[in-house]
Amino acid sequence: MTTKQTVRDIDVRGKRVFVRVDFNVPLNAERGITDDTRIRAALPTIQYLLGHGAAVILVSHLGRPKGKVVEDARLTPVAQRLAELLGQPVEMAPDSIGPEVERMAVALQPGRVMLLENLRFHAEEELNDPEFARKLAALADIYVDDAFGSAHRAHASTEGIARYLLAVAGLLMEQELEALGGLLSDPRRPFVVVVGGAKISGKIGVLTHLTGLADSFLIGGGMANTLLKAEGIDVAASLVEDDQLVVARDFLERASELSRSVYLPIDVVVAQRPDESAERRVTGIEQVPAGWTIVDIGPATVQRFTGVIEQAGTIFWNGPMGIFEVPPFAAGTRAIAEQVAASGATTVVGGGDSVAAVKQTGVADRITHISTGGGASLEFLEGRTLPGVAALRDNVPAVAIAGATG
Ligand code: ADP
Ligand code: MG
Repeated sequence: MTTKQTVRDIDVRGKRVFVRVDFNVPLNAERGITDDTRIRAALPTIQYLLGHGAAVILVSHLGRPKGKVVEDARLTPVAQRLAELLGQPVEMAPDSIGPEVERMAVALQPGRVMLLENLRFHAEEELNDPEFARKLAALADIYVDDAFGSAHRAHASTEGIARYLLAVAGLLMEQELEALGGLLSDPRRPFVVVVGGAKISGKIGVLTHLTGLADSFLIGGGMANTLLKAEGIDVAASLVEDDQLVVARDFLERASELSRSVYLPIDVVVAQRPDESAERRVTGIEQVPAGWTIVDIGPATVQRFTGVIEQAGTIFWNGPMGIFEVPPFAAGTRAIAEQVAASGATTVVGGGDSVAAVKQTGVADRITHISTGGGASLEFLEGRTLPGVAALRDNVPAVAIAGATG
C-alpha cells in the first residue's frame, strides 16, 4: 500500500547506506538507557541492509543539545546497546561530519556498522542547512529514512539530505506508513477513534480530519472536559481549555452533521485534588461537586465505550482516559487498553503516554500497530504531508512506466 520505495526496492550490495534512525532514547542520571524500544525498532532495517551486503552508517539525534556539544547527549550508550542487540561491533564516530568521520565512512566495509555522533550538536541540522545536508550526503551512496518520529520535521537529516542521494524508506517507516495510511485510506468499518490526554488543542486537527473518515469517537481524558463544558456541563475545577470552547462546539456540530457518533463520559472519577492521597469518588457527569476535578472516566462510561469497541473493525487510540500516571486514576485507561487489545479489530495506538499505558497494562503484543511517532503520527492523521516522507522516492505505478517508454 505504501507509495514510497523501500530498501527492498533497491540494490544495496556493496553500497554505503546512510540510515536516519530515531535513537532518541530515555536515559537515567547514570546515562543508562531506561527503554530501548526505539533501538529495537530499527533492527529490522539494519539487519536487512547488513544481510544484503551494505555498509551501514546510522544517524540520529538525542535530546535537545541545541547546536552545541553536550557531553550528556552523546550517543555512546546507544552504540553499546546496539552492539549488544546486533551481536557485532558498532563503531562510534566522534562527530556527524568532518574529516575523521569521512575517513571512517570510507573505510567502513560491507556488513559493518558505524554510528555518527548526535546530529543536534550542529545547529545546521534543525535549520536544514543545505551545506550541512550535503556533507552528510557525502558520507554515503544511498539515504534510508527509518525515523518516522522525526518525519514531521524538515531537518538536514530528514529532508535536506534526500536532495543529494537516492532516498527510500526503511522497514519501520514502511510499517508506519502502511498502518497509519490504512486508517486514512480504507479502514475496516466501523472505524472507531478513541481519544484522550490532557488537552484538546493539540489534537483538534486530528479530530477534525477524522470526522470525515471515522464512524464513532470515544472521548475521555482532560480533553473531554472542554467538550463537556461546550455542551453546557459544569466540570467544576477540572482541566478545561476555555479558548477552545468554540473549536469544541465546531467539532461536535460537524460530527453531528456527518452523522458520526460522539461518546463523551457519562460518569467520572472525581478527586478533591489530582493526587493519590486526595479523597475521590465516582459521580454522574452532571454531578461533579464544586471544587473537585475529573481524573478518570467512570465504570458506566467504560461499559459504554466497551460496547462500541467490541463492534469496531478498526480502532485508532491516542491519549489516556485519565491521569493514569497516578495509580488510583488509572482504571479507566487500563480497562480501555484491555478492551482495545481484545477487540479483534485492526488496532493502532499512537502517542507517548498512550503507548506507555498499553505497555503498563501488558497488552502491547495484542495491538496491531504501536506507532513510534507521537507528533508525527498526529500530523499524518491530520492529513498533512510530512516533509521527511515527501522527500522519499515514490513507487512509480506500472501503468506510468509503460506509458513513459513510448
Ligand atoms: P499521548 O502522549 O498519548 O499523546 P497526551 O500527552 O496528550 O497523550 O496526554 C497524556 C496526559 O494527559 C497524561 O499526562 C495524563 O495525566 C493527562 N490527562 C488525562 N486525563 C486527564 C484529566 N482528566 N485531567 C488532566 N490531565 C489528564
Ligand atoms: Mg504525551
